[in-house]
Amino acid sequence: MLNVVLFGPPGAGKGTQSGNIIEIYKLVHLSTGDILRGEISVGSELGLKAKTLMDQGILVPDEVVIDMISSRIDENPDAKGFIFDGFPRTIAQAQALDKMLEQKSTSISCMLSLKVSDEELIHRLVKRGKEMGRSDDTEETIGKRIQEYNTKTLPVASFYAAQNKLHEVTGTGKVEEIFRDIAKILDSYS
Ligand code: AMP
Repeated sequence: MLNVVLFGPPGAGKGTQSGNIIEIYKLVHLSTGDILRGEISVGSELGLKAKTLMDQGILVPDEVVIDMISSRIDENPDAKGFIFDGFPRTIAQAQALDKMLEQKSTSISCMLSLKVSDEELIHRLVKRGKEMGRSDDTEETIGKRIQEYNTKTLPVASFYAAQNKLHEVTGTGKVEEIFRDIAKILDSYS
């Protein structure tokens, strides 16, 4: 299996690059942010609880996202691999993911970390907020999300670096050029 963690701060282009990766490598896309927004749109109890945190730019509890990912993995027994987008975002989530995959006799192949400057991130997120109306793409919430990323999520890169699985990719420039760099790395695993 090819199991990829697509990593980077909010606005790094994880969603955009996931689209290309799924198409070419035929992986199942698991985005915890998308799954949570789906829960909000159907008005589930989980969605209602998550929305309060998401609108403040705060991470939802580990057990919530870990359970979501675990059931999505179980729902796709024939997957050639998964792309994890926006997950894991804490060390506890990364450890839980390693255990889940081990139970299926597989593991994370690599982490792709998209590098974009804070200035560019803020510019992109404010633009996305205006164009797509995402309720957490406001200037105030963006600051909190970047802060959550720097304190809780950034250490996850070291977790995979310690396993020799971390690859850094420049996340600025043309979408196709960024994808070309990603493809070079993924081809070395498939
Ligand atoms: P995203 O679409 O990945 O930027 O996620 C939007 C929001 O959903 C985040 O700001 C968090 O509140 C929540 N969220 C998404 N993924 C996770 C995760 N793996 N752990 C905790 N919270 C998450």
